[in-house]
Amino acid sequence: MKYISTRGQAPALNFEDVLLTGLAPDGGLYVPETLPRYTPEQISSWAGLSYAELAKQIIAPFVAESIPADELGRIIDDTYAEFSHSAVAPLNQIGSNEWVLELFHGPTLAFKDFALQLLGRLLDYILERRNERAVIVGATSGDTGSAAIEGCKRCDNVDIFIMHPHNRVSEVQRRQMTTIVGDNIHNLAVEGNFDDCQAMVKASFADQSFLEGKARLVAVNSINWARIMAQVVYYFAAGISLGAPHRSVAFSVPTGNFGDIFAGYIARNMGLPISQLIVATNSNDILHRFMESNHYNKATLEHTLSPSMDIMVSSNFERLLFDLYGRNGNAIAELMDKFAETGELEVDEHRWAFARELFSSSRVDDEQTCATIKQVFAETEYLLDPHTAIGVYAARQCRRDASVPMVTLATAHPVKFPEPVIKAGLEAPELPHHLSDLFERQERMSVLERDITRLHSYIRQHSRAL
Ligand SMILES: *Cc1c(COP(=O)(O)O)cnc(C)c1O
Repeated sequence: MKYISTRGQAPALNFEDVLLTGLAPDGGLYVPETLPRYTPEQISSWAGLSYAELAKQIIAPFVAESIPADELGRIIDDTYAEFSHSAVAPLNQIGSNEWVLELFHGPTLAFKDFALQLLGRLLDYILERRNERAVIVGATSGDTGSAAIEGCKRCDNVDIFIMHPHNRVSEVQRRQMTTIVGDNIHNLAVEGNFDDCQAMVKASFADQSFLEGKARLVAVNSINWARIMAQVVYYFAAGISLGAPHRSVAFSVPTGNFGDIFAGYIARNMGLPISQLIVATNSNDILHRFMESNHYNKATLEHTLSPSMDIMVSSNFERLLFDLYGRNGNAIAELMDKFAETGELEVDEHRWAFARELFSSSRVDDEQTCATIKQVFAETEYLLDPHTAIGVYAARQCRRDASVPMVTLATAHPVKFPEPVIKAGLEAPELPHHLSDLFERQERMSVLERDITRLHSYIRQHSRAL
């Protein structure tokens, strides 16, 4: 399988080169040139597979030229054996034909483990074989950082530098990053917001001279295709459990960077019968504004009770635009240039109408988030995390057909975000066993000015590859 850039000017790459980069040299994002498409017969033949076995089926064609099937199988078995629930991604029923897909049984208790546990292992395998080293520079509003650090902590060939906005992530989230010990792990608390951190990541990719050609710069945010690929699996897993391909399924997805829901869109394009895909945003609602009114424009950042979705711009949205424009890279380059200049974009009316056929959307504020946590607890004694609560609220608001199973992705364990749970008048949950001493562990991090040259000199001083 070849991967092409959404801006049409970069050479096509194979999987391992896509894994080992960030943005394409033309500024675009890589997407598969074509997707495998499965018939209902093929999809039904996957019923009853374990999560790991299903993952092998779905991931194999994306990596075939780079990783032999037996090696891939070993890597996937290793990855999902670390999860604390034997079903890996269990479904839990919270209402009539209404479910949550629990994606928080990985080591850092959020769905990002699904992709980043795999990504770390894939990276180490490929780098070892090529005798190369990588530096990861990433930005996190909370969950990506801990998941990336957990995923890479055993990677001999990777040094990882994760920036988070200083004092803007929850204490559990911060501790999950800063208490993991390793020579290759570096936590940087940046005096700024998440978008400042992300801007520094972007600038690092744009000018990599600080690496002096001695290491690859690898992205761990969801612009890395490998993350989307790994996430496609759980849509199939949930869909098949609930009767696909003989029955359609609907998904509601708490969304920030449009990564997780884009994986659902890919699953649908691969043949999974998804009748409805709901974009569920918090007050940082750029995606909902686009779906509602065809205005995709930067607004000011709001700090909400669902901080992992506090974004101004959704980095994966460009991947959808690429399809909306018939995969015309030049058109996307033009649109994105305009967006970079003016901070807004609008698409042709018929393309926007098509986007609205593909996605429903809803915006959920903090008050509605707390009310949903409270309501679902009253109905079932099931405790939602605030991101998941946004998904459930949106699912209930946008649902078109009560006979279709509605699955909300439960993107984090409620223990990571106690504030809204307490605001909802409920008792904060306890940390699971493997994290029970989190508040006693020693933290390691450096506070960094919002300054790209500071960042680069820090990396030069601390990377083993340089
Ligand atoms: C990252 C994250 C999201 C948003 O995922 P995107 O891929 O950015 O849309 C939602 N919930 C939680 C808990 C997260 O960590």
